[in-house]
Amino acid sequence: MIQNMSTSSQKRIAIFGSTGSIGTQALDVIEANPDKFVAEILTAQTNDVLLIEQAIKFNPNCVVIGDETKYLKVKEALANTTVKVFAGEKALVEVASFQTYDMMLAAIVGYGGLKPTLAAVELGKPIALANKETLVIAGDIIMKKAAEKRVPIIPVDSEHSAIFQCLVGETRNKIDKIILTASGGPFLGKKPNYLVNVKREHALQHPNWSMGAKITIDSATLMNKGLEMIEAKWLFNLKPEQIQVVIHPQSIIHSMVQFEDGSIKAQMGLPDMKLPIQYAMAFPQRVSNNFPRYNFKHPNTLTFDEPDIKTFRNLALAQEALDKGGNIPCVLNAANEIAVYAFLKNRIGFLDITDVIDKTIHTIRFIENPTIEELFESDSEARSFAANIIKL
Ligand code: NAD
Ligand code: MG
Repeated sequence: MIQNMSTSSQKRIAIFGSTGSIGTQALDVIEANPDKFVAEILTAQTNDVLLIEQAIKFNPNCVVIGDETKYLKVKEALANTTVKVFAGEKALVEVASFQTYDMMLAAIVGYGGLKPTLAAVELGKPIALANKETLVIAGDIIMKKAAEKRVPIIPVDSEHSAIFQCLVGETRNKIDKIILTASGGPFLGKKPNYLVNVKREHALQHPNWSMGAKITIDSATLMNKGLEMIEAKWLFNLKPEQIQVVIHPQSIIHSMVQFEDGSIKAQMGLPDMKLPIQYAMAFPQRVSNNFPRYNFKHPNTLTFDEPDIKTFRNLALAQEALDKGGNIPCVLNAANEIAVYAFLKNRIGFLDITDVIDKTIHTIRFIENPTIEELFESDSEARSFAANIIKL
């Protein structure tokens, strides 16, 4: 067991979504740096077995299992420890409101991450943000609240971490534009006649990154890059026309910033999510590690290309949502979550994902300046509408 006797020099991290791809890598970072970090809160939706294992190993103050039917099993398994056990969606928000942690790592996937993250911002807790959907749904509200409470929101998403790193020391300098790099996913260069037959297993194979199922499908459809454009708008206070997407299949340059003098800064390295995770957790310090390094003595060719938005229409739809603003990014996100879920269940085809999103964002009523309650309503209206089209 890793001792959880936190000292004032250790940052107490609350990992929301500790059993996922980001969550488990964050625990690797904590394990490798016990002098710097300690796990204070761990949460999972359904994976009780891994949550129990993590709780025994990291001895956090408490854990939350989202699926209430698994509460007793987790409680019994941790009966001989000091770890407190909670269950259910409400508990997730209640635990996010505890004073005992120093930083939340928001690593839940999708809409489920919004309410706990909002609770942490309201409490004034710094956020290491992996859950991009939170900003897609309610970026305006979250960023205003964060400014009011002086809460730093430090991106974990590799592109946004790259931009954040490029902006260190540049607070007074104007950004001309940012250039988000995209690997292009497993179907780069393919056309609709190929994509129509794509199956779940095929779409789940990402060339450069190993990630959770939802973001892997989003990467294959390019919706991930669309969500990231919206995420970037809020994180860096940009206008839509300041955000450009470039296909860079090698994923060595993680994104770039062009300043008003035309100078471009890029952040580079081998693709490894542990780097942006530990950067966000330790900011403003860097933490030494033994991760493999990019080697300029044996470079591969770095290439850059325009995204094919006629084939990968999700990116065009996300751009439309970015331009329209209001509740439309929230509606886009909800329709996408339903469509990706249906695709993963083999209920719809790959190209149907786009049709579901297209119909939904062009049907749900536009609200220019939605309140958080109106966003909750837009989310649920969009989900019902999308589920209806699919006949879920
Ligand atoms: P994942 O599916 O591997 O893990 C998701 C985690 O969230 C799990 O711990 C799960 O138990 C929990 N969860 C799922 N639904 C929940 C709900 N409704 N309520 C509470 N908890 C819930 O996902 P991931 O790949 O780790 O991605 C997490 C977030 O980070 C996503 O928003 C994703 O876009 C973002 N992100 C991931 C990567 C990556 O490399 N995986 C990179 C950049 C950004
Ligand atoms: Mg990313």
